[in-house]
Amino acid sequence: MNPANFKTLPKVDLHRHLDGSVRVATLRDLAVAGGFPLPSRSVRRLAPHCQVGRDCRSLADFLQKFFFFYDFLKSPWAVERIACEICEDAAADNVVYLETRFAPVLQATREFPMEDVVECALRGIRRGQKKFGVTVRLILCCYRSESPASSIRTVELARRYMGRGVVGVDFAGDEIRHPARPHYPAFRLAQKYDIPVTIHAGEAAGPDRVREAIERMGARRIGHGIHSVEDRRVLDLLRKHDITLEICPTSNVQTHVAKSYRAHPLKRLADAGIAVTVNSDDPGVSNITLTHEYRMAVRRCGLTAAQMATAVRRAADAAFCDDSTRTRIRRIIDRNWFSSRRRAA
Ligand SMILES: [Zn+2]
Repeated sequence: MNPANFKTLPKVDLHRHLDGSVRVATLRDLAVAGGFPLPSRSVRRLAPHCQVGRDCRSLADFLQKFFFFYDFLKSPWAVERIACEICEDAAADNVVYLETRFAPVLQATREFPMEDVVECALRGIRRGQKKFGVTVRLILCCYRSESPASSIRTVELARRYMGRGVVGVDFAGDEIRHPARPHYPAFRLAQKYDIPVTIHAGEAAGPDRVREAIERMGARRIGHGIHSVEDRRVLDLLRKHDITLEICPTSNVQTHVAKSYRAHPLKRLADAGIAVTVNSDDPGVSNITLTHEYRMAVRRCGLTAAQMATAVRRAADAAFCDDSTRTRIRRIIDRNWFSSRRRAA
């Protein structure tokens, strides 16, 4: 299977942040509508403020881009518009199933409470799905640097909207500076409500965080988890519990948690029998598509075409959606990725 054809093949993205997926032109429009000052109204001149370039040296450099535009996103019209556009951008890249995530607590204000943020996102997604023919579900993120009470509120919100567009909860933010322990009660609640859990862990911090996410927080999937490769016992744990890793190669290279695509542990994890998937993380800020990530996974990280096809199938299997949606997506993936592989063989 030729990576040049990945654009036209159906794809699945399990790890894409809504707030990291906004087009530069949209950020400009939202800033203008909200009365925020801008250094320029030209998309070309604005892009370096919103997207990372080759000069990105760390997670701090990466996050700087979010600080630039985050206030533009805190309004009902902004949230609904970006939720609709993420559907359009996914469809244009032949992503057939997308789980997008964001932290309602970060976009909420006194006048725009968390519940309204979620309502607006779901409204945008419903509109986008209908218009662009793509299946999109929402994951609500609890955030490490926010209060444990806000995480509990987030889980309660997820419970209210489960089956109505929301499919799970996540835990995001700086894992080096903000330990997870204060947020354990929120994730115990998620388990009690039987809400699927994914946790950002083992991205910048070590494999112990992956163990914590599985054993203490009930994670079924791990965001990144690339440092698992350093600890054989954590690899055993991932296999034993059949945990899926949501790998995002370009994001890891840009934030320098992986030195390069070639040094990225994706291939070693796949060879070790870990269930890996390939995802985009923040395609707006990284200035990439999921097609680009699939190509990098094969051309630079070293996955074989067969491993890439297995990763796409795994993404369909590990989706948090209901079984009938999963079966439909799985059929599309199998028909396109596996029959074409047989043809190529
Ligand atoms: Zn992420």
